[in-house]
Amino acid sequence: MSAPLPPGSTIGIVGGGQLGRMSAMAAARLGYRCRVLTQEPDGPAAQVCAATIGAYDDPASLRAFAEAVDVVTFEFENVSAEGLDLLASLRPVHPAPAVLRVSQDRVTEKSLVNATGVGTAHWLPISDLSDLERGIGQIGLPAVLKTTRLGYDGRGQAVLRTHQDIEAAWHRLSPKPLILEAFVDFACELSVIVARGQDGSVAVFDPVENRHRNHILDTTLAPARVSDALAAEARDVSCHLASALQVVGLLAVEMFVDSSGVLLVNELAPRPHNSGHWTIDACPASQFDMHIRAVAGLPLPPAVRHADAVMKNLIGPEAMARRAAILATPNLIPHFYGKAEARPGRKMGHVTRLFPKGALPGDFGIQDAMGLV
Ligand code: AMP
Repeated sequence: MSAPLPPGSTIGIVGGGQLGRMSAMAAARLGYRCRVLTQEPDGPAAQVCAATIGAYDDPASLRAFAEAVDVVTFEFENVSAEGLDLLASLRPVHPAPAVLRVSQDRVTEKSLVNATGVGTAHWLPISDLSDLERGIGQIGLPAVLKTTRLGYDGRGQAVLRTHQDIEAAWHRLSPKPLILEAFVDFACELSVIVARGQDGSVAVFDPVENRHRNHILDTTLAPARVSDALAAEARDVSCHLASALQVVGLLAVEMFVDSSGVLLVNELAPRPHNSGHWTIDACPASQFDMHIRAVAGLPLPPAVRHADAVMKNLIGPEAMARRAAILATPNLIPHFYGKAEARPGRKMGHVTRLFPKGALPGDFGIQDAMGLV
């Protein structure tokens, strides 16, 4: 384990979106500078810290970026793993490129999850149409067909309900190969965020419940309204995966609770996660603080929470049209990402509302509390 990063050092973040912006803001509080590698000179992160403008797979930009920073991390997964390898030859990179490679490919990811003894929906790798026909024979319908790489926010996937859906989905989805998963009739979706330090210590936030709209995260409830036993199992599974992968930084683990109460892991993200934004307002150390601490080799405080919370994403022009009303609403804590253009489906910001611990309201209460959003 290396010595903690001295104050005033520069943390390099590959990627310039809102996750980089909020990481840079946490780094500043901890006395560090940040520099992002981004193609957007006026993107969310470049507005709050230094930026190297360049492509993630351009060796000259990667070298210039590495030379200007002391340690490197990343804020989204579709960066080039080879680019990260180049950075790792010049500076320490946390999490390691090997972790990124696992999370970039759903087949590698699910194989690793299953190899560590953790359950997922039944899945099969699909490389041609006859594989797909055979796979449907085994898994049955409905099923979900996904690209193995480059999917996010529901892009790159199709639900197959009847045999008529199969061929069109195969032709539509790219890049290939694909993965076929059993459709999980879930009771709820959970996620857990674990921070793991350079010394192998972990800090794990309480599981939260996530609700999606149009395949995009809409609302996160913290904590998830599940039994203590299921919450403990979700935390244990997540810590187990973070240790198995030897993550230094954050690991977000997305899970389903199926209709019989069984936990199934859906996806891993080795970076700050949208479902952890509530931690900025409800925890002494947020997911972003934990991320920076892990990357900088600082001790990880316990991932405790001083309040319950509801986080709601502000998506597209509709949400931005309500900006004035949101700002005028007491108790809503707004976070805007500084994006110039409010395109439909684009995450423009989020709001958090805190509740006393143990006093998270039911569905109607939540709707009422977040009504203007
Ligand atoms: P993903 O890109 O894998 O995170 O999937 C995005 C969302 O699609 C998930 O959060 C679920 O709401 C839904 N989804 C993905 N996979 C499945 C599945 N196998 N069964 C049911 N719903 C799914």
